[in-house]
Amino acid sequence: MITLEDNINILPGVGPKRLDALHEIGIFTIEDLVNYFPFRYQDLGEKLPSETLDGEKATFKGIVSTPAVVTHFGKRSQTRFGLMVEHENIRVSFFNQPWVANNIDVGQEVAVYGTYDAAKAALTGIKMISMASNELDPIYPASKQISAKTIRHLIELAWSDVRGTVGSLVPKSLRQKYRLLDRNTQIENMHFPTDMDQAKLARRSIAFEEFFIFQMRLQLLKLADKNFHGEGIRYDAQALRQFELGLPFALTSAQQKVIAEILQDQKRPIHMNRLLQGDVGSGKTVVAAIALYAVVTAGMQATMMAPTEILAQQHAVNLATMFEKAGVNIRIELLTSGMKVAVRRQLLEDLSDGTIDILVGTHALLQPDVMFHHLGLAVIDEQHRFGVNQRAKLRENGVNPDILAMTATPIPRTLSITAYGEMDVSIIDQLPNGRKQIQTRKIRHQQIDSAIAFLKQQLFDGAQAYVVTPLIEESEALDVQNAQAMYESLKLELPNYTIGLLHGRLTNDEKKSLMAEFKNNTIQVLVATTVIEVGVDVPNASIMLIMDADRFGLAQLHQLRGRVGRGSRQSYTILVADPKTDYGRARLDAMVETTDGFVLAQKDLELRGSGDILGTKQSGVPEFAVGDPIKDLKMMEIAQQEAIALVSNKSWDKEDDNQLLVDYLSKTMAHYRHLD
Ligand code: ADP
Ligand code: MG
Repeated sequence: MITLEDNINILPGVGPKRLDALHEIGIFTIEDLVNYFPFRYQDLGEKLPSETLDGEKATFKGIVSTPAVVTHFGKRSQTRFGLMVEHENIRVSFFNQPWVANNIDVGQEVAVYGTYDAAKAALTGIKMISMASNELDPIYPASKQISAKTIRHLIELAWSDVRGTVGSLVPKSLRQKYRLLDRNTQIENMHFPTDMDQAKLARRSIAFEEFFIFQMRLQLLKLADKNFHGEGIRYDAQALRQFELGLPFALTSAQQKVIAEILQDQKRPIHMNRLLQGDVGSGKTVVAAIALYAVVTAGMQATMMAPTEILAQQHAVNLATMFEKAGVNIRIELLTSGMKVAVRRQLLEDLSDGTIDILVGTHALLQPDVMFHHLGLAVIDEQHRFGVNQRAKLRENGVNPDILAMTATPIPRTLSITAYGEMDVSIIDQLPNGRKQIQTRKIRHQQIDSAIAFLKQQLFDGAQAYVVTPLIEESEALDVQNAQAMYESLKLELPNYTIGLLHGRLTNDEKKSLMAEFKNNTIQVLVATTVIEVGVDVPNASIMLIMDADRFGLAQLHQLRGRVGRGSRQSYTILVADPKTDYGRARLDAMVETTDGFVLAQKDLELRGSGDILGTKQSGVPEFAVGDPIKDLKMMEIAQQEAIALVSNKSWDKEDDNQLLVDYLSKTMAHYRHLD
């Protein structure tokens, strides 16, 4: 007897080659196999020959009228028999399926699925349909190494042994409330539905289960946070006010609102896990600065993590300047991956004895030898660039600071409950005053001269510009070459200005000094690959020329455009492209139409089609095997409500109805600690 836990190679016919192919598509155990679901069903609906078009596929049901004859030609074979369908005799033939003959007796009723040839009144059989049976043929995602048919066959083999043994993770009370199938029936009906309604119900039940488990994890993480009795940060409110007054601008009311929410969390003796969401240029950095400073005034340390060295560098400089100008004397350091050993050692020493107040860096901060004296807050900038794991990692290192994650990822509102379900969210929904709307234009390559003329005039007026060349996935060398060529040609076109060239192959020191020169206007035009995509802040830069703009995704274009429009100058983005696809054209049009990140995100989703969650990957939205967090949003919301309701009952994990769920979660969640 086969069981769910068995390795997949227990099945007859699974040798080393098939085993590899199955592993390749994520099937290791019998349980994995029966949870490998069809992505669509082929309708094998029964028809009459008179209703069937020539060349159409259909199922004919009838009485076998002549005995099956099998003819062999070497390795090939043909099996023929007559089938009386209503009053018409159909000549059925199967190629290379001689076993079909075993079940054909004259006078017997059979159903055959095949391709109809009207002129010959013949059906080329594809498969015999069991009479009991299903009119839907499930189609499985297959690979080059293993066919959908083989997968189907293996599932049939396995299911006959394990049917009835799969436990439901969704508690019975919920299944009843929402009329969902138990796990056994779900699986059975996904693989062997008798009609489309049955398949749909199975799909709905499985999607709910996926969402519910996902939401349970989030809620348990949240609960663990709330139960974690950190210390309340006793910050110096007076000093914070002083700092605010020293800023060169007044905070927007949106900034003030989110600062209040963050400080509120920091003050309480619970663990903060908050996401700060705000479109590009909305001013998240200064909000982070206040949260960081709050911790420092309480005598503790804080850290800020950025996804690139350029950005980390920029944050370190900006923070230092901000504090200095406000007359605040604290020590801010930058930890980079390329530091000299001795320098690094000294820095880590100063960190662990508490001399450093704020440490800024990239994920290099997550190395185990980076030890704080007393860490009170970790800010994660552009958090969508880090895996969810990094958040977990910050905790695993033994420290459990408050976490403030920041993102500008224009994630559609419909997805945020999925992406950030375990975090509290603060939103900056307003740009600083005095910003002028960025004007965006699209032009063709042949119009580049007019763009350069425009650039010249703007440079003459004192503006600075970015010229972005695309990252060529296949070859870093090629994209550097591309940027290089642009750089050379601009040097000729704009002899009166200094042009800089920034790309991924430069050392950190080279990048650092280029950015510094651009910031202080020694360089007027910065030619760059997408290394400047996120976070870079040079308010005087007001023109962005994006070459081959159709090679970028919409989210990326929006991030890039966010590098301008940061100061009081009228800013421009010029998209240079000769798009070859409708999708490419539509992306450029969307950029011209709006600068609102949320609108763009929604548009992006529509353009991709909501079934395609490819694009959501980079925004941190997890993928589900069956459920679609966009199409099934309502269900996700219900799953969230129910998960919240369940864990709010203190003894939920003691109740019989929830035992399978408890077992499953404690087995699969590293952070499932609250039970002990
Ligand atoms: P993002 O949210 O994209 O990280 P930044 O924090 O880099 O945005 O801020 C963008 C620019 O706006 C910076 O130059 C910053 O100094 C400036 N800024 C932030 N807040 C305000 C404000 N309230 N008024 C005017 N300028 C501001
Ligand atoms: Mg930023």
